[in-house]
Amino acid sequence: MSESTVRIGLVLPDVMGTYGDGGNALVLRQRLRMRGHDAEVIEISLSDPVPDSLDIYTLGGAEDSAQRLATRHLQRFPGLQQAAGRGVPVLAICAAIQVLGHWYETSTGERVDGVGLFDVTTSPRAERAIGEVATAPILPGLSKPLTGFENHRGGTKLGGGATGLARVTRGIGNGVGDGLEGVVQGSVIGTYMHGPALARNPELADYLLARALGVDSLPPLDLPEVEQLRRERLRA
Ligand code: GLN
Repeated sequence: MSESTVRIGLVLPDVMGTYGDGGNALVLRQRLRMRGHDAEVIEISLSDPVPDSLDIYTLGGAEDSAQRLATRHLQRFPGLQQAAGRGVPVLAICAAIQVLGHWYETSTGERVDGVGLFDVTTSPRAERAIGEVATAPILPGLSKPLTGFENHRGGTKLGGGATGLARVTRGIGNGVGDGLEGVVQGSVIGTYMHGPALARNPELADYLLARALGVDSLPPLDLPEVEQLRRERLRA
């Protein structure tokens, strides 16, 4: 690995990674390599401390018990929080939103303290949110509809320090009646879209990568298969 290699942290794939969320790290790596960058995925497991020195991080979703293990590990080794504090981009999927918030309640009603990177709290909804979700982005810099698959019981309420990623046009999203999907706070972006979300939403992938590289935008990639996938999913 050379000094210019872009290092993508896949955080706790041994416990957080429902529906192949780890694929988001592969999408980031591939889009970097296609543009001529050296890029590697660094897997950080429960037996490793979390380094603060990587260029971008991603965390997947998980069921309640796995989510608790991840929460404890991130509290014990705060490298992710330190990197985010310096503006390093982080993508958090589903349960990872909840883990990064102030607290979340499990489906049995137990309240667990989170990591505190997001000004959000999560409580169980009466019904599980499951199915396709489509949204219109709110985050400046994104213009294309976002699409993914959601499966969560938790409903996430934003405090004043966080904003939504997008407005729901189909599906449930954060699920607390404000019509929002996802969370943005500084360089940290959370979404309930599994999928992996970045395979379906290349604009979001490039938004994160531009931030990791410290540039305003990236040269476009012409990938007809990705456009085809998007057309199919947005029709679904
Ligand atoms: N356990 C959490 C919930 O149901 C997250 C689930 C997930 O990541 N898919 O809300």
